Amino acid sequence: MATSEEILQNYFGYTSFRPPQAEIVDAVLERHDVLALLPTGGGKSLCFQVPTLQTEGLCLVVTPLIALMQDQVQQLRRRHIDAVAVHSGMSAHEIDIALDRAVYGKIRFLYVSPERLKTEMFNKRFPNMPVSLIAVDEAHCISQWGHDFRPPYLEIHALREVKPDVPLIALTATATGPVRDDIVRHLKLRNPRIFQRSFARDNISLVVRHTEQKEKQMLDILQKVPGPAIVYVRSRRGTVSLARWLVKQKISATYYHAGLTYTERQERQQEWINNHSRVMVATNAFGMGINKPDVRSVIHLDMPEDLESYYQEAGRAGRDGKRSFATLIYHDADVAALQHRAEQAQPSIDYLRKVYQALANFYQLAVGAAQGVTFDFDLEEFCRRFGFKSQAAYPALKKLEQEGFVQLSEGFYRPSRLMIAVDNKRLYEFQVANVHYDKLIKMLLRLYGAELFADYLIVQEAQLADALHQSKEELRTGLTQLGKLQLIHYQPASDSPTLTWLLPRQDADRMPLRVEHLKERARVFEKKTEAMITYATQTVRCRMQVIQNYFGEDTFNTCGICDLCLKRKKRDHQAHLVDYRNQVLFLLKARPLSLDDLEAAVDARDRDVFIETIREMLDQQEIRCDESWNLHLVKQ
Ligand code: ADP
Repeated sequence: MATSEEILQNYFGYTSFRPPQAEIVDAVLERHDVLALLPTGGGKSLCFQVPTLQTEGLCLVVTPLIALMQDQVQQLRRRHIDAVAVHSGMSAHEIDIALDRAVYGKIRFLYVSPERLKTEMFNKRFPNMPVSLIAVDEAHCISQWGHDFRPPYLEIHALREVKPDVPLIALTATATGPVRDDIVRHLKLRNPRIFQRSFARDNISLVVRHTEQKEKQMLDILQKVPGPAIVYVRSRRGTVSLARWLVKQKISATYYHAGLTYTERQERQQEWINNHSRVMVATNAFGMGINKPDVRSVIHLDMPEDLESYYQEAGRAGRDGKRSFATLIYHDADVAALQHRAEQAQPSIDYLRKVYQALANFYQLAVGAAQGVTFDFDLEEFCRRFGFKSQAAYPALKKLEQEGFVQLSEGFYRPSRLMIAVDNKRLYEFQVANVHYDKLIKMLLRLYGAELFADYLIVQEAQLADALHQSKEELRTGLTQLGKLQLIHYQPASDSPTLTWLLPRQDADRMPLRVEHLKERARVFEKKTEAMITYATQTVRCRMQVIQNYFGEDTFNTCGICDLCLKRKKRDHQAHLVDYRNQVLFLLKARPLSLDDLEAAVDARDRDVFIETIREMLDQQEIRCDESWNLHLVKQ
């Protein structure tokens, strides 16, 4: 068996593990259940990828974010590791093929969203999959105390009943004490080994600025701190206007939000990663899965809704370990706005029912229908049709999601995929009978080979169209036709947001809304809002310490580099200055002394401050130095 270090080197090209990756890998190899708490960017994925590659079998990875799932699968494939993702953006047939490959093929990693685990298609296959490890990423989603509660996470433990001997590793970057307890309890971890790396980042200066002139303050920071930066704002429109304003101020900037097309998002992201634009002005849609190590500044111009989100975004600064700044700029109106948003995020039961009913009408679904079905979802269109305001309807939809009725997915890109639906012989017969399609089919086989008969492959439509001297539209028409003729299975590219019905459509008046539970969640939410506001408005405690305590780390250590630590240092420094000065005046009044004798007499603990005091007193001509380097008081 290859060693963990060899796997790390050969597959991933890294020379050493980061703490505590090696210990985690060992614990997994010893088949212990593991809970790994590592800050964002800490390298969680390798903790389950390396041990899987060291042994036989498949690692089932449960993860909620489809975009991240796709990203990881692509990265693994680039390293020639067979990985597959199964999510709601795929057709039933695609999912069927992927799950079959997990049972029969040589897949090493199967990524699934938690909702998948409940489907019959998955449950039928799972017992026959050669699973060696179950990895639950973003494990905080299991807890209603977490910031992104996903009810289907509560069902993950059922996997363990089917495969009781398979170890489970749960991973998360953000888990407060109660969340940690929930993870252990709900995943039914057995004597888990718990690994935690401190959440403190010793190269990030956390700073809060309270001002009415937020843009000016931001500009000031960008002028003083050179290097790449991210500026987070809440509104999509805000990203556009702020980026333009920065360009006018001669700072190169671009913008990013979920309303842009996939290509636009890719272009902007690349522009910033390659340093063609210095500042990325973005909504919170930006940042997941992006690994730019040299971000020197992350600035928030609006208050995030909780400390989990804030610290995750702020933590994108200084991945390279060099000194960086994370600044939250706010004024009083922002505190009020956050409180208002928090109130709006708690819709009444009646309103929830109304939105649910409207959804059912939107898709024209009968009671009992649509379980597991995914539709494209246009929030603006939905609100327009039913007369909702999106600021109110969106939190209601999120609530329905938390209650497990539906699942919303931000627009994530699904490239075009296709697979041949018939065998070789039948295809040949078709080609002979339909010369019109012959060129297209030949080109498909030439570019993608026989694998097209076995699995869905991602096809580059631009490349294919070029090779055929066709426009992309002509090509798509051709592929769609072949799809209709049932010669191929064709899934055209899409990046629209989706909505999945997790439960069959209910009667809105009788849907099982757990009133007490909703109230409890509202209280949790309120506490989170409060913690965010306290972080910003308090002026006493080290900011890093506040964050560490929030995430359940017991520490009294201070970071020494946040604005409040620096303020305290300055204050102490001033106090020392005054103290040393008084002592010098007192001692020299009695007789002249050399610098060394004076220093010994003052018992200066902070030598730099003592020397600074002497220099200042010389400058102010309070004291003078004679030819023998003795110090005298000027005015006796
Ligand atoms: P997380 O999921 O904890 O946010 P990732 O697993 O995405 O972090 O890892 C963050 C980045 O660090 C990735 O680019 C990953 O390849 C890199 N990385 C992880 N472990 C190591 C290591 N031991 N040496 C070098 N780079 C690493």
